Parts: sequence; structure tokens; C-alpha cells
Amino acid sequence: MRVAIIGAGISGLALAYYLQKLGIPYDLFEAEEHVGGNIKTLQEGGYLLELGPNALQCTPELTALIKELKLEQEVIPTAHSTNNRYVLHDGTYEKSPSNPFSLLSNTFFSWKTKLRILKEKDVPPADITYETITQFFDRRFGPGVIDYSVNPFVTGNYGGDPEKLLVHKAIPILKEMENRYGSVLKGLVQHKNGHLTHQNISFAKGMQALPNAIAEKLISLHTDHRVEMITRNQGKYIISCATTGDYDTQEYNLLVLALPALPAAELLHFTFPGMAAALQNIHYPPMAVVHTVYNRRDVRHDLDGFGVLHPKAECPFTVGSIWSSSLFDGRCRPHEVLFTSFVGGAQYEAHAITDKKTLMQCVHQELAEKHHIASDKPIFQHMHFMEHSIPQYDMYIEDAHQMAKQLEQDGLFIAANWQAGVSVPSCIRHAKELAHKINLKRPAPSIAE
Ligand SMILES: Cc1cc2nc3c(=O)[nH]c(=O)nc-3n(C[C@H](O)[C@H](O)[C@H](O)COP(=O)(O)OP(=O)(O)OC[C@H]3O[C@@H](n4cnc5c(N)ncnc54)[C@H](O)[C@@H]3O)c2cc1C
Repeated sequence: MRVAIIGAGISGLALAYYLQKLGIPYDLFEAEEHVGGNIKTLQEGGYLLELGPNALQCTPELTALIKELKLEQEVIPTAHSTNNRYVLHDGTYEKSPSNPFSLLSNTFFSWKTKLRILKEKDVPPADITYETITQFFDRRFGPGVIDYSVNPFVTGNYGGDPEKLLVHKAIPILKEMENRYGSVLKGLVQHKNGHLTHQNISFAKGMQALPNAIAEKLISLHTDHRVEMITRNQGKYIISCATTGDYDTQEYNLLVLALPALPAAELLHFTFPGMAAALQNIHYPPMAVVHTVYNRRDVRHDLDGFGVLHPKAECPFTVGSIWSSSLFDGRCRPHEVLFTSFVGGAQYEAHAITDKKTLMQCVHQELAEKHHIASDKPIFQHMHFMEHSIPQYDMYIEDAHQMAKQLEQDGLFIAANWQAGVSVPSCIRHAKELAHKINLKRPAPSIAE
């Protein structure tokens, strides 16, 4: 049994790694020269810039993987103060609640909203088809929590619109808590004594260290191999790659797509047209990631936290910013501060496609105004634009998920963030589970063997 994996982002890399550990032959094809997909670290002008993920939540699978890769020495946890997260409220930044108890001491909820939050435990569970995140919170906690809690959280974590994302798809743990404990608040108290977040980490040389370390272990990784065509013959998959002008063609028993939905749709166009159509409906809003550096002495804000989120009610330009130099050492020079700001996502698509010069100027203006920065222009600024950023778990993703399940009978599997969950740790967990599922498909050894 041989497995073809297309795409060496974190999903494809992790799957190849776990298959290799199980002794299952595979080939991992990556179109680009480098591995990692969305995970990209750029060293420029003496700065360490993350163009994709900035911090990873330390799940058991991620911790185990880091240990196996002998990457522990490279790990850097976020500073303790970065448990503080701020939300823009009436033009200024206020600390957002880090656990259910601090929800009540917060100043951006009215007393009426706070009383309604306490009553959440008495709201009976309900199963509502296509319930969005906004509808879920409205039903359980009342409308007062949407604008300054739900909206910025969903924008910041999913680049999404809470009025469109489905709660059971985007944040399944909330539905699990409702069903298991009868209440989200009760569920949160059970989970980690009420803490909403895990330890966040990065690596001394940036996020790229993780995909690079996995790639080093792989024996059948083929970079610079863009898969151009998939066909089927007698139940086997035939993969065609364009490499250095010649076509490579190989046959496989199982195929795993570790690709974003749109390139996956292109490849399935002839073999599975229904699935290709469903994949084309998955929405990836555009997003720009902007890095901005100032002299520390010009910034009259403590920057004592992870960063800031901007609710739509405040009509912001950016979704928010990470205070990257507060999170991790070595991102800029000691007398400077580095902000990583996000522009776009499902609620601000027009902002992301503003021309580059205006966009960077708008980011600087908003940073300067909100953080009291006494400087006409930054020391350094860099923009990275993504036409298709994060897949949206809205009602249009349902078809693709259902069809993906059916196609497993044909030996076609998915390891990608539009199926696994968008966070890097979710992609790793899904890849590990899939490797074990594939292992079960291995033919039993014959008696002669
Ligand atoms: C701006 C941004 C910030 C984020 N921040 C965080 C964060 O802080 N923490 C977190 O946990 N997650 C974060 N995420 C989410 C996370 O980075 C992604 O969900 C995850 O990296 C997706 O990995 P993947 O392997 O599924 O897909 P991808 O990373 O998209 O990898 C797909 C790979 O397939 C390759 N490919 C495409 N077409 C072909 C072809 N025809 N043949 C061969 N190869 C092909 C591509 O080159 C690419 O390498 C962020 C995402 C974005 C966009």
C-alpha cells in the first residue's frame, strides 16, 4: 500500500511524519521550493517577521511532536504578562476577560448583560440546524455579549464573521459543553478551572522551525513538485507532476489532499466533479499582515499583553494587532517595538484590497492613535498580502465535509485546515488521527510472510 500526499503545509508534513513512523510508504508532493504553506518566517532588516501564525497553543500532540523532533531547546513560551488581551472599547483598550469570573468585573458589559451571563446555566440546551456563533451566544448569554466579546474573538481567531460561521463547525467545544454540562459556563469551570487559554509558544528562529524540522525527518518529500493532474485507473490514483520540464507519473492506492480547497478543487475537476464544486464554495477572505516597528520611547503604552482586538462596533481599519515584541524576545532590537497587524478577513474584505501604500499608512495611523505613538512614521514597515487566507466554517463548508466523508470509501482522504480546524495544533491532531485510520487499511500480512 502506497499513499500520495499532496501539499507540504503543516497538515501534509505532519501526516507524512506519522505515516513514516507507522512504516507506511508514502510520497509527499509540494509545489513550492520550501515547506510549511501558511507557516512562513521572514528575516528582514534585522527583524523576525511571521507572515502566518505567530503563536501556537501547546496541545498534547504538539508537545509530543516537539519532543520527538528534539526541538525543545528552540521553544520559547510567551511572557507571563501576555495572558492579558485587550479589546477596543469607546476608542481605548480595555482588558478582556480571561476566565468566566472576570467576565463579571469587566467594564464593557452592562449590569443587565452580567446578570444575563449568570443565568446562562439555566438556559436549556437546544439543537438548531445551521446555528451561527452569534445566534448561539445570543440564545445562551443574551445579545449584550456579541459586540465586545464574540465579535472581536471570532474576527481575531478565524478572520471570520460570527453572523455566518456555524457554531458546531467553527467552535465545536461550545456545543460539546452545552450538550455535556447543559451550560457553557459550567463546562468552562470544569475545563482547566475556568481558564480559556493554554500556554502559547513559538521558536527562537520563528515558526518556520517547526515545518523545517519535520521536513528534515522525511525520507519521501518532493519539493518543487506541483501536482498538475489526478486520474484514476482500476481503483488506483495516478498523480502527474511537472518537474523540471518532464512529467513524473506515479500510481498510489490512497490519496490524501493536504491542500487549500481551491487548488484541491482544480485537481478533482475531472475525477470527482461533485466534490470539486463543493470545494469551490468554501470562502477564503483576503487578508494582509502588516509588520510595523517604532522606537520604544515613542510608544506611550505599556504593551503589557498579547495584543488588541477590534470589535466591528468600533469601525476599525484593522482586525487587531499582536504586540510581537512583548510576546517573544528577538523579534526586533531591544530599543524598538514590533506590531503585527491584520487587515481583512470576512468582515473587512474591502480593507485588505486597499492599495498597498494607503493600507500601510492606515495601519500606522490607527496604531499611532490608539497606542499614543509620538512618531510621524514607523522605522520599518512590511506588508504580506494573501488573496485567500483562512477557510470559513460557514454553511457552505457543510457539503464539502459530507462529501469528503463519503470519498474515504474511494481511498481519498483530507488533511487540511478546511477539514481539520484552522489552528496549527488542530491540523497536527487531525493528521495523527488520519495516519492511524490509514494504518487500519493496511492489508493483513499473508501466512507465507
Ligand atoms: C495570517 C494567518 C495567521 C494565522 N495565525 C495562526 C496562529 O497564530 N496560530 C495557529 O495555530 N494558526 C494560525 N493560522 C492558521 C494556520 O496557519 C493554518 O490553518 C495552517 O497553517 C494550514 O496548514 P495546511 O497544511 O492545512 O495548509 P497550507 O498551509 O495552506 O499548506 C498547503 C500546501 O499545499 C501546497 N500546494 C498547493 N497546491 C499544490 C499542488 N498542486 N501540488 C503540490 N502542492 C501544492 C502549498 O504550496 C502549501 O505548501 C493562521 C493563518 C493565517 C493565514
